[in-house]
Amino acid sequence: MNDLLVLGDEALALGAIDAGLSVAYGYPGTPSTEIIEYLQKYSQEHDPDLIARWCANEKTSYEGAVGVSYAGKRALVTMKHVGLNVAADAFVNSALLEINGGLVAAVCDDPGMHSSQNEQDSRFYADFAGIICLEPKNHQEAYDMTREAFAISEKFKIPVLVKLVTRLSHSRAVIKRAEPLKKTDNGKASDRLGWMALPSLSRKNWQSLLEQQKYFKEYSEKSSFNSLILHKDFREYGVITTGLGGNYFRENISDLDYVPSQLHIGVYPVPEEKIKKLASAVKKIIVIEEGYPFVERMITSILSISLPVHGKLDGTVPPSGELTPDNVRPALGLAKRASQKFSDETLPGRPPQLCQGCPHTDTFTALNNAVAHLSEHIVTSDIGCYALGALPPLSAIETLLCMGASVGMARGASEAGRKNVVATIGDSTFLHSGITGLIDAASTNTDMTLIIMDNSTTAMTGMQDTIVSSPRIKEIVLACGVSPDHLKEIKVLPKNDKENTEIIKQEISYHGLSVIIALRECIHIIGKKK
Ligand code: SF4
Repeated sequence: MNDLLVLGDEALALGAIDAGLSVAYGYPGTPSTEIIEYLQKYSQEHDPDLIARWCANEKTSYEGAVGVSYAGKRALVTMKHVGLNVAADAFVNSALLEINGGLVAAVCDDPGMHSSQNEQDSRFYADFAGIICLEPKNHQEAYDMTREAFAISEKFKIPVLVKLVTRLSHSRAVIKRAEPLKKTDNGKASDRLGWMALPSLSRKNWQSLLEQQKYFKEYSEKSSFNSLILHKDFREYGVITTGLGGNYFRENISDLDYVPSQLHIGVYPVPEEKIKKLASAVKKIIVIEEGYPFVERMITSILSISLPVHGKLDGTVPPSGELTPDNVRPALGLAKRASQKFSDETLPGRPPQLCQGCPHTDTFTALNNAVAHLSEHIVTSDIGCYALGALPPLSAIETLLCMGASVGMARGASEAGRKNVVATIGDSTFLHSGITGLIDAASTNTDMTLIIMDNSTTAMTGMQDTIVSSPRIKEIVLACGVSPDHLKEIKVLPKNDKENTEIIKQEISYHGLSVIIALRECIHIIGKKK
C-alpha cells in the first residue's frame, strides 16, 4: 500500500510519521486541522506510541514540541497561519536553541481568506527567525519535504517550517510512500548552554545562527526542490514560481508560443545563484508566487544588473486572494479564458449562518433583548461559529479581531468610559487566550460582562474536544479572580429566554466584572453522541 490518495494535510502527517515522529501538538485551525486529526487516527489504529494532542493554543503547542526536541525525539507542531502569531515568541526564540530531536512546524496559510481574518504569508516568519522554510507545490512534495524537514532540522539544529496553503491542504491526490524510518531517540540534549535564552548566551547563539546562514543558502542552492530550467533560445522573459504558482504556470504552458525559462522555488532562503542564472538568460522576470510578494521583493537586492521584475507589486499578478490557472494568464501575455456560463438564473445570495437550533442563537437573542432598552452598549466578540452573530437577523456583535481579543477589547472600551460593555467568546477560544484578558479584568474589577458561550466543543473547526470540559470552566473563571456573586450559569434554550434575558440585564447593570457561562452543547455534538 505505497500509493495513497490523501489530503495535502494528510500527506504532511504521513511524511512526519514516516520520518519517525514521536509527538505532535497543535491547535485546530482551518486549513491545518486535518494534520493532527490524521495523526490521532493513525495512532489509534496503527501506532499507540505515537502521541498526537490538541493543546490550549498554538504557543503551548509549540512549547510542548520544543520540549520533545530537548528530550531527544522528533516533534511536529501544527497551526494555521494566524496561529503562528500566537506561537511567535516561542517560535522565533527557538531558532537560537540547539535543536536536538527534529522540530518541524507545519503552518497552513489561507490566501483568499476562506476561513481566516487575513492572508499573511508564513515565509516571512521563517525569514524573520532566520531558519529554513519548505513550501510544497503538490501532495508528493508535502510528504517528501516533511520527511526531509526532520532530517535538516537535526542536521542544522534548527526548527524547520513547512508551509502549506488551503488549496493544497484540502485537495486530494495520490502520493507514494517511501520506506518509513523508525522513531529515533537522540537522548536529552547534552549542551545546556544551547538551550537557555539568557542574553549572554543568546548573543552567542544569534551570532552562530547568522554564521549558519551560508550553509542554509548552500542547502537551498543544491536542493532539487529549487529547479531551474533554462530555454536559451527564448530570452524575452523568464518566470519565477513558488508554491502552487508553479502548477498554475505549468497549466498554461501549452498555450504559450515559446516556453520561457523557469525557476521554481520550494526551499528558502531563496537560491540566489539560481536567480542570478535565470536573470542572466532573460530580458525580464515575471514572478508568480502564492502569498505575499516575498521573492519578488528580494530580487532587486540579489541582482547586480538592473532587470525589470513584474509580479504582485506592479499588479501584473493579482496582489491579493488565491492565484488560479486563469488569473495568472495575463501575466504570461495570454488572453483570459472565456468564462463558462452554468445557468441563466440568478441565484439568491446565501450568506453563512448559524445552524438551525444552534445554542448561540439563543444566547444572542437573550443578549439582544437585554441590551435593547439601553441608550448605549458595546458587544465585542471573537473567533468561532458565533462570529456569525454579526450578521442579520441577529446583528448582535460589533467587533472581531483575533483569538481572545473580545475580553481585552471589552476591558479597554469600559476603561475608556463606555457603559454596558459585554464580551462574547466561546469556550475553546476562552481557554485559548481569553483567559488572560479575564485575569486582567479581574485585577481591576473592570465594569464589564463576559459571556462565555460554552457549547462543549471546538465547533467551527470540526468538533475537536476542548482541553477543559464544561463543568470545570466555572472553576477556572473563579480562579481568575471573578467574584462568585457575579458568576452566573444559564442554560440557553428558547424556553429560558425570558429568564436568561433578566440574568444578562442584571449582570450588565452591575458596576464591576461579571461572567455568565451560557451552557448548551453544539447540536452536532448531541448528534455525535447519539
Ligand atoms: S456547528 Fe454547532 S456551534 Fe457551530 S453554528 Fe452549528 S450548532 Fe452552532
